Amino acid sequence: MKYISTRGQAPTVDFAQAMLSGLAPDGGLYVPETWPAAEPALARPGIPYATVARSVLTTFAGTSLSAGAIDRAVMRLVERFRHEAVTPLVQLDANLWLLELFHGPTAAFKDLAMQLAASLMDAALAGSDSRLTLVTATSGDTGAAAVRAFAGAERIRLIVLHPEGRVSPVQRLQMTTVAADNITNLAVRGDFDDCQRLVKGLLTDEGLRARGALSSVNSINWARLAGQIPYYVTAGAALAGPAPRFVVPTGNFGDAFAGWAARRMGANVGGLVAAVNSNDALARVLTDGVYSRRTTVETHSVSMDVQAPSNFERLVFEATDRDTDRTRALFETFAREGTVTLDDALLARLRAEVSAVTVSEAETRAEIAHAWSAYGQVICPHTAVAVAAARRLDPADGPVVALATAHPAKFPAVVGEALGFDPVRPAVLQGLEGRPEHYRKVEPTLAAVLAMLD
Ligand SMILES: *Cc1c(COP(=O)(O)O)cnc(C)c1O
Repeated sequence: MKYISTRGQAPTVDFAQAMLSGLAPDGGLYVPETWPAAEPALARPGIPYATVARSVLTTFAGTSLSAGAIDRAVMRLVERFRHEAVTPLVQLDANLWLLELFHGPTAAFKDLAMQLAASLMDAALAGSDSRLTLVTATSGDTGAAAVRAFAGAERIRLIVLHPEGRVSPVQRLQMTTVAADNITNLAVRGDFDDCQRLVKGLLTDEGLRARGALSSVNSINWARLAGQIPYYVTAGAALAGPAPRFVVPTGNFGDAFAGWAARRMGANVGGLVAAVNSNDALARVLTDGVYSRRTTVETHSVSMDVQAPSNFERLVFEATDRDTDRTRALFETFAREGTVTLDDALLARLRAEVSAVTVSEAETRAEIAHAWSAYGQVICPHTAVAVAAARRLDPADGPVVALATAHPAKFPAVVGEALGFDPVRPAVLQGLEGRPEHYRKVEPTLAAVLAMLD
């Protein structure tokens, strides 16, 4: 299996190379050269998560990683999850289901892909006896999942930038209480956009590049998406029958694109609905064909506060029948001007692939309360956006699965206020307070950050 760039001007690479470089050198995103079919045996209900994950990863990795490396990565993932089913389905209503993705070590769905990516990257680096520095900006969940996944990795140094005072206390503690020599936590005196700008600056800094390979672990990385395909396969198989529509709480559109890929591979996935908060670039472009960036709004569902969802490029690439020149032109225009208009034919193609629903802050709070009173479920604000969107669909059109992406106890302020009681912390979120924290504060300039990395 080989990988090509959505912008068509980068050499073809294998899975390990795509995983270790993240972004393609032409600025595009890696996609499989052709879409493989999922093994037919996976369509039966009752196949263990580990079997599905092993099969999907083997399909995508081809010969670039050994069977042993994939097996160890999957076993480590499954061991670190606190639920036998790994990603259990919970029934809410006659035709509405919740897919719980938060039973991992940091209680958010990013554990599912990050745990796999960490093992697989370490294995790929061991093969070539090389080292890698990963840099990532986080508004909370990505950093926590990455720190837990990469702590102690022999060949990888991880640098995480979070905006000081703007991640929840639980999220900060999850990142900073892990004592590992290969992790550097930086609290930037600025906002998430500052962190993202600094990461870009680090990734292109000549001095830092001269000291060794650099990459990132956000969801532009194909390995992250590959690790999110298995739960669409298992959930689709468990609900054998009319293909369920999946409603995905969406920020960078990585999770939703993994669902799209699962459907493309033949999994029992019907429609895909991206549920977004007021940062609604996806919903707007699917309405009027204008893809434009606005100022990021702070919402209850902070991990979805994204204005330019990077994985949208992968969907456009597919909807143009893999026209790399057109994809490159569209996204270069967008990068330059902050806005680009799609023609009617492309818009119609995109609408055939996904739809989007915008959910307000008031609706998010109301849905947290409703899910408790109607279903007895305590849900996080991201999940609430998905459930609110799911309840707007017509249940007569078939089963609907809403993705539950984080444990509610990660967001005690908003959940507690909506319910009148605090969500109970799972074991992985207990005992964080009072542990020594490892992080340094830094001014929001590239020079200040570089000085911290010596
Ligand atoms: C990251 C995240 C999302 C958004 O996922 P994308 O792949 O960026 O669309 C949704 N919910 C939670 C809890 C997250 O951490």
